[in-house]
Order: sequence, then structure tokens, then C-alpha cells
Amino acid sequence: MIRDWACICDEPHIMPVGTTTKRRLTIAIDFDGTFAEDPEAFREIVEVFQARGHQCIMVTNRPEEWGQDVRRLVGDLMPIVFAGRFSKAGAVYRHGYDVDIWMDDMPHVIEMDGVIYLGGAA
Ligand SMILES: [Mg+2]
Repeated sequence: MIRDWACICDEPHIMPVGTTTKRRLTIAIDFDGTFAEDPEAFREIVEVFQARGHQCIMVTNRPEEWGQDVRRLVGDLMPIVFAGRFSKAGAVYRHGYDVDIWMDDMPHVIEMDGVIYLGGAA
């Protein structure tokens, strides 16, 4: 069992477990299959992160014209990026965000272009 471990990486974003960071994190949260599964819980999580100075954004592969459910459930809690058929990673970059943490039920498609939203209410 590893009881104490030190950061052996020079990258500043990798910290030993249990240490705290004052760095402002940007946390990207997916909608379908993630936030929409339990909006109340995610709302509380987002509010905790925000109260601690971190930034949360909603990132969905839905096109903007299918965004009614997203806007209704997210409201003004956090900005919404509609990636549509483009990769979420590319979409957030174009919107000026540098995401540190992704919360997504399908992490394998975050960097994938051509994802098609097939419809269906949240
Ligand atoms: Mg999803």
C-alpha cells in the first residue's frame, strides 16, 4: 500500500493526493446521459465547484436547435457550448475554454468529430 507519495512530475497540474490547489479549474459537463440523469445533483455539484472559485461549462453534441431541454434544465447555472457535429474538445477551444476536467458518460467521443445527436428529450 502506498501511504505517502510525492509528485514526481514537473507538470504543475499534477498534485499529490490530498493536497489542495488554488488553481481555478474549468470543468466541462456533458448533458445527455450525464447532467440530465440527475439535474438536481449536478446543480449542487456545480454550485460547490463555483463557490470554490472553479468554472463549470455545459458541453453537448446537441445542435443549438435541439437545445430547449438543455436551456430549460441548465438555465443560467453555467454557459452552454453546443458542439453539434464537431468534437466537444474543438468546440470548447473555439469558445475560449481550456478544460481541465470532463464529466461525460461517453468520454471516448469528446475529441471525435461527426457525432450525431439523434434526438429525444432529456
Ligand atoms: Mg452524453
